[in-house]
Amino acid sequence: MGNQYALAVDVGGTKIAIALVDDELQITEKKTIPSHASTGSELWERIANATNMILQKTQGEVVGIGIGSAGPIDLNAGTISPVNIPIWREFPIVEKFQQISKVERITLHGDAMALAHAEHKVGSGVGSRNMFGIVVSTGIGGGLVLDNKLFEGETGNTSFFGHSSIDYSGVQCVCGRLGCVEAYASGPSMVAEAKQLGWRSEENSFIGLAEAARLGDGIAIAAIDSGTRALAVGLVNFASSLDIGHIVIGGGVAQAGEVFWAPLMKHIHAETEFFSFLKKLKVSPAKLTTDAGLIGAALGVL
Ligand SMILES: [Zn+2]
Repeated sequence: MGNQYALAVDVGGTKIAIALVDDELQITEKKTIPSHASTGSELWERIANATNMILQKTQGEVVGIGIGSAGPIDLNAGTISPVNIPIWREFPIVEKFQQISKVERITLHGDAMALAHAEHKVGSGVGSRNMFGIVVSTGIGGGLVLDNKLFEGETGNTSFFGHSSIDYSGVQCVCGRLGCVEAYASGPSMVAEAKQLGWRSEENSFIGLAEAARLGDGIAIAAIDSGTRALAVGLVNFASSLDIGHIVIGGGVAQAGEVFWAPLMKHIHAETEFFSFLKKLKVSPAKLTTDAGLIGAALGVL
């Protein structure tokens, strides 16, 4: 166990995790709080209490606070406006943590960026110079490592890959745009597509859809095929624009196994066919599952 620690915070739409991570990237203390509260200040109160409890237990030095949050975020202002936490809009999370701790170094990243960072340092992306890491679950986000460095962009929102459009006259996405990758390839989008195609099941989760596909249900297979095709088109657009060598995919949907990976790889091969420089594009599953967000957040300061 190391003597230097990061306080890592992972802000998600369902829960918020706060942890102490040592310099060997081991989690030594962790608290989880539901993201639902009646007011923004009530939610912050709970986080502040949990943070104080964790900091009081710390034996070593806390060198910084690393925050990974669902987007959008504003890196320059230190604020977050997570789509799934409507009680927080332009919430000054960095300033709030400054007020309750003596820690000076505080970093803020998008949650998918934090995950990509963790995969690059200790997961599937180790050794890849230019890596794009994405999370496919309820939504789709991404994070970019260029020349072995996490790329932050102007405002910290490189995570917004899910809202790149692959069809300007396509279906409307929750964000308002038409034809976003997420509107076809997220778990709920694939389930919606299956229902549209006539999938008669009580099941509403992607896990259920994947199970049906595994058992040979033609509609489930078709819906996943169409969703993974959309994802492949988006990924190859991205990889070809930036000349990326490695794509790492994590998140609940990507854990479905062959029913997801086989069609995805088929479509990626079909799309990369046109570009000789993408022939060696590596696509692999994420290695870290639980706590990758916290490890990535901690990497912001360790
Ligand atoms: Zn969108």
